[in-house]
Amino acid sequence: MTKIAVYPGSFDPITMGHVDIINRIAPFYDQVIVLVAQSSQKQSLFTAEERKALIEQSLPHTKNVKVDIFGGLTVDYMKKANAQVIVRGLRAVVDFEYEMTMANMNKKLAPEIETLLVFASPEYYYISSRGVKEIAVNGGALKDLVPEIVISALEKKYKKKE
Ligand code: ADP
Repeated sequence: MTKIAVYPGSFDPITMGHVDIINRIAPFYDQVIVLVAQSSQKQSLFTAEERKALIEQSLPHTKNVKVDIFGGLTVDYMKKANAQVIVRGLRAVVDFEYEMTMANMNKKLAPEIETLLVFASPEYYYISSRGVKEIAVNGGALKDLVPEIVISALEKKYKKKE
């Protein structure tokens, strides 16, 4: 059986916390699919295509990782892709309740699929896409928080908006 994990999220934009999770789980699977959520409910700064391109450019050396975009339920994508495991990252306690609800909801929808929660590394646990955008809009330093390519993308985005 080909072991496939899906790491779904908004990735608006990808941060070093996300990159860390991807690099840590990739050795355990034949393939990891980073799934960019194209949500109709959530407003995003970057389009799904832009978010996908930024993820791809942030992971140039990880061979068994691919990036895809999906607008529906994660479990429906998983069935189509023959994937078995949903990976999510866990930072502080505040993430726990949301992740537990999602995991149980997905278990109800697709009992054969497991959710794997991976603890954020201590050096990245405080990083969030939302925090990064807040720093970027106010011109703060983004070094070590996001990949270099994301720093330029954020600078371009906010320059255009001014
Ligand atoms: P979502 O809107 O689906 O929560 P995000 O892009 O914010 O999407 O996050 C995707 C996943 O990555 C979530 O499981 C989240 O908890 C996790 N994550 C976000 N930031 C970090 C981080 N710094 N370290 C580890 N995991 C993280």
